[in-house]
Amino acid sequence: MTSAADLCVTADWILPLDGPPIPNGRITIAGHRIAEIDAGGERVRLMRHDPRPQGVTHLHYKDCVILPGLINAHTHLDLSGWSGDFISPPKLWDWIPEVVRFRRSNAYRPGEAIRDGLQAVLAGGAVGVVDVIPPDWFTWGLVPEQGADPDGDQQMPEWEPSRLRVLSMIECLAPTGRMRIPPEELLQHHAMACRQMGWEIGLSPHAPYTVPMSVLKEVVKVAVDHNATLTMHIAETEEEAVFLSTGGGAFRDMLKHLSAYRDGVFSGGNSLQDVLEVLVQAPRVLLIHGNYLGRSQIDFLCQFRDRLAVVYCPRSHEFFGHTPYPLEQFLEASIPVLLGTDSRASHPDISMLGELQAVRRKHPHIEAETNIRMATSTAANVLGWENDLGNLAVGRLASFTVVHVDGLASKKDPYEAVLSPHAQVCAVWLAGKLAYQQTGHAGEQEGSVA
Ligand SMILES: [Zn+2]
Repeated sequence: MTSAADLCVTADWILPLDGPPIPNGRITIAGHRIAEIDAGGERVRLMRHDPRPQGVTHLHYKDCVILPGLINAHTHLDLSGWSGDFISPPKLWDWIPEVVRFRRSNAYRPGEAIRDGLQAVLAGGAVGVVDVIPPDWFTWGLVPEQGADPDGDQQMPEWEPSRLRVLSMIECLAPTGRMRIPPEELLQHHAMACRQMGWEIGLSPHAPYTVPMSVLKEVVKVAVDHNATLTMHIAETEEEAVFLSTGGGAFRDMLKHLSAYRDGVFSGGNSLQDVLEVLVQAPRVLLIHGNYLGRSQIDFLCQFRDRLAVVYCPRSHEFFGHTPYPLEQFLEASIPVLLGTDSRASHPDISMLGELQAVRRKHPHIEAETNIRMATSTAANVLGWENDLGNLAVGRLASFTVVHVDGLASKKDPYEAVLSPHAQVCAVWLAGKLAYQQTGHAGEQEGSVA
């Protein structure tokens, strides 16, 4: 790499994840990307007249670990302004009508919530996010208006690598038997709006109790035709299997309560296995939750592990009081597990570091490195983002998270240190630019950081 360096960032530890942890590590940044990564940090710090090229700014983060920027694989940013109560644990079929009520209230300001939510995602240590967005989002004033330029220049805004990477999944709902806008047309609208936002696109059939099998097949076909990623809430509760097989139970009552039930749409005779068999036909699938997937379903999914992942949302899982999550079973079957925050309607913050710490708390025997990989290298590989994110290496984007750890010097394992309850995100860098800095946690700086 011959391009001139712009900046050196050093910390007590760097966790590149494609190699062993680097004590007193240094990342040299040129433009958006990593030009060099090595153990020169301490040497650079101590030399008063070091041989760095003039004009290169050096920033040191004391008592900190730098790791690849985290990836939040599931959230609903439009709910970031959630103002409901947190009475845990609710039943999912009682909680969903509360979300519907909130979305119909004056407190629901989705455009603002998404802007705030993106900032909160960043503050929680993430550089990329998979968001599920309701189908009417085009009307929220988020998308820049074309032609607003006084010179009449209708060029679309260019993607800036120094922005948070967003995979926006358009939500598909059809409780009464068909989608208000058919999936192909909906995806076209979504793609047009996302292009202006610099977001990537995908499809999210909501759940087996709101999307009948016939509609699910249509959505999967559209995903295949457009090589789009698909994500679906699945096996979140045991009641879901009851609804699929009988068409009755708590979810039928919920749909009736929401005036969204129509006879003959969900007539039973299906199983979770039937839903999975349709989903695995998509080019890439994120199965959200999967709390109650059993041995036979895990064995089945294992055959498709090159194109699917499950997304575990540890604190949302805790909020609903589910039985222990089958994390070990998924990992033993080599099914990729990603982590997500879910929305603020089931946990008050959108912090990916908080989710990593929750995994440590709930599954203490899972290795710290494995835990961190779920939110970095594994997520980047599954989402096709591995050339930019997921690892820290020469040529990758300089997108990383700086975690401050009290008493770091006394801790032997930097992976464990990141997961300690008092670790906190102190800065996030996106493609060579400081994108978030926690108050009071600026690095020690020579020169100025643009
Ligand atoms: Zn969700």
